[in-house]
Amino acid sequence: MTPAAMSVGSSPVRTYRAFRANEGLGQKFRGLVRAAAIAALAPSRSPTRTTGWVRFPYYHHVFDDERTGFARQLKYFKNIGEIIGIDDAVAMIDGETPIDGRYFCLTFDDGFKNWIENALPILVEHQAVAAFFVAAGYIGTDPECDRERLLGFYDDRSRLMAFLNWEDCRQMAAAGMTIGSHSVDHVYLSKMGADAARQEMQRSKQMIEAELRQPCDHFCCPFGIPGVDFMPDTHPDMAKALGYRSFLTTRRGPNRAGGSAFAICRDHMLANAPIREVRYFLGDPIWG
Ligand SMILES: [Zn+2]
Repeated sequence: MTPAAMSVGSSPVRTYRAFRANEGLGQKFRGLVRAAAIAALAPSRSPTRTTGWVRFPYYHHVFDDERTGFARQLKYFKNIGEIIGIDDAVAMIDGETPIDGRYFCLTFDDGFKNWIENALPILVEHQAVAAFFVAAGYIGTDPECDRERLLGFYDDRSRLMAFLNWEDCRQMAAAGMTIGSHSVDHVYLSKMGADAARQEMQRSKQMIEAELRQPCDHFCCPFGIPGVDFMPDTHPDMAKALGYRSFLTTRRGPNRAGGSAFAICRDHMLANAPIREVRYFLGDPIWG
């Protein structure tokens, strides 16, 4: 066992550096190649080339060493557009209000403790809001008592992450953030029968509503790739029938008027990614 592997799970991950510490050389190399390719291509793309869209950047974590990067990204979003809440974003996609500019609806997946420790204070400082999607069955878990289960959150069992508790969620909601559902057990809906999938969506909604005493209107599909992790002709309709007002995926791209709130596209972000990466992922080609 390597020293890094021996240390897995001794205490929850607090930094992005530690989060990536157990990556193999191959993974590290691929990361470097990817970063170099993005740096080379970034000047050819710009989010300010077009308007009339809502982009949903999505994050998983803001670790201790990502705070500065996250604040920098918020400033960038505010510079080129407006950060709006998910209810307003859904109203735009539904056509209730016009998409008369560039809008960003920030979203977070899974339910990690670093949301309240790092993301929330930075959002509040910048007068920005975000929607946080919790895997309800992990909320209130304890890194010591539930260590084995928490290590299983990632398939390779390489990291121990601390999750929020319900009081944290209530505090975030009180600060103006939206708490949505990311299922109960962070499941692949496509691998489950219809009843089990429906239960994941329904139970998580009920748990969140009971704990927060307010409606849980938005569902964010775990893993989120259409046709792979969920069935586009089944699961969004199921969410709608259960009373959700949106279904968020991990398909990249802008959401424009005439789109569907039950097939929302999002763009994955790392909180400490340089602005050129944000430009690259959120931008349209400058030429063509
Ligand atoms: Zn997730």
